[in-house]
Amino acid sequence: MGNSLVSVRDQKFLLYEQLGVEKLFAYEKYGDYSRDVVDMMLGEAEKMAVDVILPTYDVGDKEGCTFKDGKVSVPACFHDAYKKFCEAGWICAIKDPEVGGQGMPMSVWMSCAECFNAANFAFMMYPGLTAGAAGLIEKYGTEEQKNKYMYRMYTGEWGGTMCLTEPGSGSDLGAIRTTAKRLPDGTFSITGTKSFISSGDHDLTPNNIHPVLARIEGDPPGTGGISIFIVPKYRVNDDGSLGELNDVITGNIEHKMGIKGSATATLNFGEDGNCIGELLGEERKGMKIMFQMMNEARLEVGMQGLGHATAAYGHALQYAKERVQSKPIWEFTNPNAASVPIIQHPDVRRMLLWMKAYVEGMRALNGFVAYCIDMEGIAETKEEKKRWEGFVEVLTPVCKAFCSDMGVEICSLAIDVYGGYGYISEYPVEQYMRDCKIACLYEGTNGIQALDLVGRKLAQNKGANVKAFFGEIAGTVGKIKKIEELKAYVVHLEEAYGAVAGLTEQFGKWAKSAGLIIPILNARPYLMILGDLAVGWQLMQAAGIACEKLDAIYAEAGADGSKAGQRALARENSEVAFYQGKIASAKYFATNILPTISGRCKAIGLGDKVPIEMLEESFGS
Ligand SMILES: Cc1cc2nc3c(=O)[nH]c(=O)nc-3n(C[C@H](O)[C@H](O)[C@H](O)COP(=O)(O)OP(=O)(O)OC[C@H]3O[C@@H](n4cnc5c(N)ncnc54)[C@H](O)[C@@H]3O)c2cc1C
Repeated sequence: MGNSLVSVRDQKFLLYEQLGVEKLFAYEKYGDYSRDVVDMMLGEAEKMAVDVILPTYDVGDKEGCTFKDGKVSVPACFHDAYKKFCEAGWICAIKDPEVGGQGMPMSVWMSCAECFNAANFAFMMYPGLTAGAAGLIEKYGTEEQKNKYMYRMYTGEWGGTMCLTEPGSGSDLGAIRTTAKRLPDGTFSITGTKSFISSGDHDLTPNNIHPVLARIEGDPPGTGGISIFIVPKYRVNDDGSLGELNDVITGNIEHKMGIKGSATATLNFGEDGNCIGELLGEERKGMKIMFQMMNEARLEVGMQGLGHATAAYGHALQYAKERVQSKPIWEFTNPNAASVPIIQHPDVRRMLLWMKAYVEGMRALNGFVAYCIDMEGIAETKEEKKRWEGFVEVLTPVCKAFCSDMGVEICSLAIDVYGGYGYISEYPVEQYMRDCKIACLYEGTNGIQALDLVGRKLAQNKGANVKAFFGEIAGTVGKIKKIEELKAYVVHLEEAYGAVAGLTEQFGKWAKSAGLIIPILNARPYLMILGDLAVGWQLMQAAGIACEKLDAIYAEAGADGSKAGQRALARENSEVAFYQGKIASAKYFATNILPTISGRCKAIGLGDKVPIEMLEESFGS
């Protein structure tokens, strides 16, 4: 897969040269880690992705999930892959060794997850949700609950889900109607219907453990009255063996545009009044508890967008090198000229570099947030912890929404690179586009992510979190200005960040005077601007590092300093080609995307409210 799906070289650049993850290994928590260990893990992840998961990709899509006689079956090839994935310990790699994990830093896990998601994220839904649900029990469960459920989920023996959505309650979780009635023994009788539940029912594991949001009878309406319950599909006897069915009945599974190998089920709890749930954590704290899983899942969903983008770019690049079509533009009037591989046409090169720049920038953005999570976990002072946490808070909705939206755009452009063949099922990119779209919708739609960013995150910590983020960009601008090769490009980053910082301040002023309506109306475009800014920042930082590396290589090789000499060296030295590619990504992004930011900020700054003010009737009938 190395060359076609994920650039492992770029992952290593990010980990070692840009983030400097080796710093983590000096802390006791990551004392067992070293560069050799990480290299070995990345190699194992790639092998798992290529040899085990990737072969399930199109087969799983074609076969899909079935619902027959009340039972859900996943694609047959998922069984062996699931077994191997769990046996290798990937399901809980980032968890502590005490619970069976490998204590892997989040930043390293992100690279592994990118490989897995690129290989088949419909498959990854099963272990992913299981790990998330087990994580909730680990953090909020009693010892008894951990012994009963968590360990068997972390090994993959039992599956897990997250049950929030109901037919009448999607974005607005405060409207849920599932109820929990107290029983004399301290457990609860659960009644209600949950819809769209990923991995809600399947035949990969003999039991499935559902964390379910429900309202205890008599508790207040809205999100503040919601509690969370552990509801197993099959009850568990005291000796750990499986008991009777817990009145959790699968109503149906959805027929979907993509991720067809992931079963999306409607679950009916307590139709016969016999569904028993155990309270997880405190009463009425269900949303807070579920948010732990949702925040982790939001980053994972950002990684799904990236995984698809990565794979789609890899395929498009390979295809562009192989597909021969049309004479080159400089031979257009020559009837005898030979056709060339399409990578030689300017428009195809533009599309490829656009994709490359976004893929690398999003990889770095996700990696940065993961690194912040690692640093937050080992921070020695309160201030330091708060600072890392601040980056995570602000950037989590950006990772989720920006990377999924751009993931779709990149998959779409990959189809353009293929031409008509891109639309044909025999080629892989149409499936990537179908599969990718869901990442924009679940875990809170991208519209809801944008509301979270603008309505909550910008003002968090009195605005200090977002200011610290801008401060990081300013720091990079200062450093890059000293690099001759990039001087002319970094001005676009400086201008863009100035425009975004100005608009953010304007949002604050509007919030105090005219109300939040204009920021709320523009939350999604604002989030996309912030995403572009973050990507432009990460790419520029990477280009600065690449320049230093190249200078050293050129000096050692005795290159004559001419562009021609440097290009010649790149043809024979893959490291030179790689670093030159990093600089190309940053330069392209700086000149083609970053200058649009100030115009987009200006547009929002005009304070237009037409979509709010116009009559509903005027939208048409
Ligand atoms: C394949 C699939 C898998 C899923 N897996 C799970 C799962 O495992 N567990 C689970 O609990 N759920 C799951 N979901 C449900 C998913 O999280 C919801 O579909 C999603 O949260 C949106 O809810 P909704 O579909 O009811 O849309 P709605 O809430 O009706 O939203 C429709 C539109 O209105 C917008 N909107 C709604 N409210 C506002 C507002 N206040 N301000 C601005 N815009 C707003 C939305 O952004 C969206 O554009 C899954 C869904 C799918 C399709």
